[in-house]
Amino acid sequence: MTQRNKGILTVVSGFSGAGKGTIMKELMKKYSEQYALSVSATTRAPRCGETDGVEYFFKSREEFEQMIADEALIEYAQYVGNYYGTPKAYVEEQLNAGKDVILEIEIQGALKVKKRFPDTLLLFVTPPSADELKKRLIGRGTETMDVIESRLARALEEAEGIEEYDYLVNNDVLDECVEEVHELIQNEHYRVSRNIEAINTMRDELKGFKR
Ligand code: 5GP
Repeated sequence: MTQRNKGILTVVSGFSGAGKGTIMKELMKKYSEQYALSVSATTRAPRCGETDGVEYFFKSREEFEQMIADEALIEYAQYVGNYYGTPKAYVEEQLNAGKDVILEIEIQGALKVKKRFPDTLLLFVTPPSADELKKRLIGRGTETMDVIESRLARALEEAEGIEEYDYLVNNDVLDECVEEVHELIQNEHYRVSRNIEAINTMRDELKGFKR
């Protein structure tokens, strides 16, 4: 039985190159009815093959700063010299429609979301080893060695915040990892604190039997 209450807001973070993007794509493909993936805004340039409105909404610094001023973002952060932020409207709309919404964002943003919405589920994806992480970043072939070095340096900083997360997911075998992420999110629907409304309805109904 699937427990149905309001959508679960989940943040997925992880070292750059850990494979978060691939996991999310697979999850959307397999369970498209259940999940909505938030598309972030960023000031970084599109990588080869990226399309505006699909991977990101690509913005100029001025446009991004206007979104901040308009309070159109749930959170935003700077990462390796660029702004990244989560547009508010889509997330709220999808959660209210009962979808589980996933934000694939870095740690500063994740902690801001958790503070603002304390029932957010925080998942951290890690590759099997640091060596494997470097190999995956180089293999992706989308960044210069310079950028790769900054991302690896930033990875060390990100490791410091892992304690704040709820679950650690090891991305060794992709299919297994996708299933683990799916189960962790779906299990959240059974948490008592997320089912208070159902419990109160049950209580009210039981009152009807009082003698
Ligand atoms: P990339 O440039 O590799 O696409 O993303 C760089 C980092 O920014 C990743 O860790 C990614 O998860 C994070 N990121 C993407 N979108 C957002 C966002 O909306 N807010 C925050 N805080 N981080 C984001």
